[in-house]
Amino acid sequence: MSGPNEESTQLSLLIFGDLLDSIIVDVASESHRIAKLGLDPKLEEEEEESHPSVASVIFDCMNCGRSIAAGRFAPHSEKCMGKGRKAR
Ligand SMILES: [Zn+2]
Repeated sequence: MSGPNEESTQLSLLIFGDLLDSIIVDVASESHRIAKLGLDPKLEEEEEESHPSVASVIFDCMNCGRSIAAGRFAPHSEKCMGKGRKAR
């Protein structure tokens, strides 16, 4: 006695797996992009010099006291604190 339940379970598993796949790819490429930004200090400094007024939200870095645009705050603080701890 094989009812229709088994079939629909397999189908939803397939759909779920597909969905999960695309989510994982999304997250992976996003974190790859962030890692790239964080690991490229030259790019960050260049942008700070040439476009000082582009960003709308500014944070003060609690480590070095500089004003950092919201979009660059995470990679900056990571880099800045890593360096600050070693230097001081
Ligand atoms: Zn800093």
